[in-house]
Amino acid sequence: MKSEFSVGLLGVPFDDNASFEKGPALAPDLIRQVLTSGSLNSATELNVELKNNPRWLDLGDLSFSKENHFIEDIAQPSIDFLSKNIRLLSLGGDHSVSHPLLKAYREFFPKLNILHIDAHSDLYDSFKGNRYANACPFARVMEEGLCDRLVQIGIRTLNEHQRKQVEKFGVECHEMKDWLTGTLFDFEGPVYLSLDIDGIDPAFAPGVSHREPGGLTSREVINIIHQINAPLVGADIVEFNPHKDIDNITSQLAAKLVKEIAGKMLLS
Ligand code: MN
Ligand code: MN
Repeated sequence: MKSEFSVGLLGVPFDDNASFEKGPALAPDLIRQVLTSGSLNSATELNVELKNNPRWLDLGDLSFSKENHFIEDIAQPSIDFLSKNIRLLSLGGDHSVSHPLLKAYREFFPKLNILHIDAHSDLYDSFKGNRYANACPFARVMEEGLCDRLVQIGIRTLNEHQRKQVEKFGVECHEMKDWLTGTLFDFEGPVYLSLDIDGIDPAFAPGVSHREPGGLTSREVINIIHQINAPLVGADIVEFNPHKDIDNITSQLAAKLVKEIAGKMLLS
């Protein structure tokens, strides 16, 4: 039996660290609306039925206090859920939320790989004076030793500072300019997926603050998720900005990704 854990959908409606445009705080509601709209069924491609599945939970949304730093407001409840054997599929939020989520994960997973899909490597030491900006989470993750291995896919915005950071932290950064469709990754031990919607081409996902052409297709991302060869123990979907969406194209895609990630996590 490997089924004693549950997977919980957790809204993280927070975009204070969005460096360019606000909006991702509204994403959890919009994605949930699609999931419950009746426009898609509850069976995943990997043949997991989510409807009435006792291991698939909706944990609601986190709330943010003025007194606490956002790190505490995200990490502490995440630790509480993980200690109840609930693995998290979080809906951000700007990408800064991944750092506190991973802080929580590291307490439970002494071996942890991160698969990070994004147009950006998010390794800035600091961005516009904010070390917790949505351009910085993986610099904090690496400094704090929150993973054993960071694999990045979809990257197409490296500048000199970020190339130095890639080197400094030993990040496995796969740039789009060299990308071969169908590339497989060999993971040893648990995997956490951090999925920035802007890793996908804006033709498929226009609802993001930082549209960067030349990205992955929806199908490639779904296949990459399905083909993860190790337990997928946690995930976040971040940077969906409803203000930039066109006729719900991106919220529909995010809902589809929720289903496919949830199915993969439940089978892990
Ligand atoms: Mn990002
Ligand atoms: Mn990005």
